[in-house]
Amino acid sequence: MTYNITRRDFLNGMAIATGTGLLTPAELFAQTSTSGQGVVYPPTLTGLRGNHPGSFETMHALAWAGQKPEAHHKLDEHYDMVIVGAGVSGLATAWFYQKAMGPEARILLLDNHDDFGGHAKRNEFHHRGRTLLGIGGSVNVDAPSDWSDISKGLLDDLGVDLEAMKANSENVALLSATADSVLAFPGVDGKEGYTSHKKIRAKWRQLMLGVGDYASAVRALPLPVSEQDKLIEFFSGDRDYLNDLSQSEKQSYVESVSYAEFLTERVGLALDTISIFYPVPKLMFGPAGLRVTVMEAFYLGCPGVQGMDWLAKLAAGILEGQETGSESLYFPDGNASLARLLVHKLIPRAASDASGFDDIATSRFDYGALDEKAHSIRLRLNSTVVGVRETEDDAVTVDYVRDGNAVSVTGDHCVLACYNSAIPYLCPQLPESQKEALRYGVKVPLVWTNVLIDNGHAFSKLGGGQVICPDDPYVMVTTPPVTTTGGHQPPRGPDDPMVIHMLGVPSVTSTGTETSRELLSTARHNVYATTFDTYESQVRGQLQGLLGDHGFNHKFDIKAITVNRWPHGYAYEYMSLDDPKWTPGQAPHELGRAQFGRISIANSDSEAYAYLNAAIDAGWRAVTEQVTYNDLQG
Ligand SMILES: Cc1cc2nc3c(=O)[nH]c(=O)nc-3n(C[C@H](O)[C@H](O)[C@H](O)COP(=O)(O)OP(=O)(O)OC[C@H]3O[C@@H](n4cnc5c(N)ncnc54)[C@H](O)[C@@H]3O)c2cc1C
Repeated sequence: MTYNITRRDFLNGMAIATGTGLLTPAELFAQTSTSGQGVVYPPTLTGLRGNHPGSFETMHALAWAGQKPEAHHKLDEHYDMVIVGAGVSGLATAWFYQKAMGPEARILLLDNHDDFGGHAKRNEFHHRGRTLLGIGGSVNVDAPSDWSDISKGLLDDLGVDLEAMKANSENVALLSATADSVLAFPGVDGKEGYTSHKKIRAKWRQLMLGVGDYASAVRALPLPVSEQDKLIEFFSGDRDYLNDLSQSEKQSYVESVSYAEFLTERVGLALDTISIFYPVPKLMFGPAGLRVTVMEAFYLGCPGVQGMDWLAKLAAGILEGQETGSESLYFPDGNASLARLLVHKLIPRAASDASGFDDIATSRFDYGALDEKAHSIRLRLNSTVVGVRETEDDAVTVDYVRDGNAVSVTGDHCVLACYNSAIPYLCPQLPESQKEALRYGVKVPLVWTNVLIDNGHAFSKLGGGQVICPDDPYVMVTTPPVTTTGGHQPPRGPDDPMVIHMLGVPSVTSTGTETSRELLSTARHNVYATTFDTYESQVRGQLQGLLGDHGFNHKFDIKAITVNRWPHGYAYEYMSLDDPKWTPGQAPHELGRAQFGRISIANSDSEAYAYLNAAIDAGWRAVTEQVTYNDLQG
């Protein structure tokens, strides 16, 4: 690329645009130092983040080529509990274990990334005297009123004030069904080869369910009139497209046929047209969103249900949900603030100036204080675990690689709060059936990119907080949550710099015969194989196409790009088309998470549910197993 966006370079990855867009040295320094000493501050790194270079190579050598160090130097470190993975599940495990065993309990957390939080990470930018936050992975606290008492209790322990979060947020366009959105399609070739987009602003999710003037909106879509006619009839809800089927056949149809087949064969829409219905399924299931059944699509708020009287109750529920909006609460940096609150609670010295919930988003963390010998809880980053086994002296040995050094520590207990698919490699001694169960789910790959923009004029002229781009690399373009939670000051107006948040779902070529898991696997490899240059070029092309009409010039206005790629993203959730209905207790995640003596398994994969509360509940279960085991051993 010619625009000289640097990645993890000697300036620690701060992106610099050429021409008039150059950032000053002071701004650069603000992004890359702790306490002004020039130490790398991981949240400010740009370029390829998420599963960043340096985080996965050791594990891939083990998983793909069976390679691991022949010997490990035994460190003189023994812990009560060693936790593999410092995502929300690992951090919650540490908190629950400390609560159960007391403040003296010695706990070590190991994580292969250079930052803590797992998917719950943030991107931090400093520009023109302002601090801007971006969501690096996990987005929102979803429906906390439905959480278990354990998960709700953790929020209480952390002092999370859900009412304040509600009150502090405004215009949260992310995934909102009621906000105005802009549906955008690449169209005419614009200046310098960028494709100018046709944009139609409306309350699209409601219009698609037949609420409002959907006919005018549809007529504005860049589609042949015959397709528009079909869409208008479809949105009207006047027709039951399954009326030739008996009641039981209809029921079985919606549960066993893909939404794509329904749209093309029953509604008669062209393949090119139906992409407008897939942004949400793709954001929920990644490339496997193409495999949702009619029923799964309806539950995600996709249209079609309103024409089917026999599903009227469900339709009413969906419409009501669209109007009231499900309870979705946001920190300005997504769930990174939750991870920060956990680390602050576990290792107060790491954020000694922070008081907690009220200033967590603006607090500076001292990464050097995470792993101090004097502290009972230590968090060690850049450490990839390659082996975990029980030993004869009633302990667990944990082998890991850090900075190219193969070392090991021991613990009385170990919780694997990492990825299910990694566990068979870490613990080859597990029964074959358990390893097979652990390998079943394939995590959903996603790419969330944050782009620092010099000012918000062009974006505000676009006029919708949520831009849906069915045919672009990023299916949704929006802003981070506008909220003051955690002490954050969001941009005050279009003169201020802003962050554009771009949500991408890796595309895969499908013949239509692949299962969800096959699609996810292929997409994961595609994500690893995609270079920063490619992502950069996609970002520039898409933003120029969307904003070029409004005075935006990517060459000058883009100040930094951070690509958070998550080849191992959401935990796999079973899908009706491709997964059997398991009998209770026999689903792969349940068989896979069986305790193995002093080793237990946490993480959201072990619940087959890609949400915070699953990660927390899993941590609680793992701690309970080990504390009980302790008691049984006397
Ligand atoms: C892009 C994205 C958006 C999301 N949005 C939401 C949302 O809005 N709301 C929500 O509730 N959930 C969301 N999630 C789901 C999220 O995964 C869970 O909420 C939760 O954060 C998962 O926590 P975890 O600790 O189980 O897993 P992770 O966050 O994946 O943490 C596991 C950690 O273990 C590390 N690890 C793996 N192998 C090893 C090894 N061998 N050695 C050392 N460390 C290892 C991993 O690298 C990682 O850091 C999102 C996920 C993604 C990817």
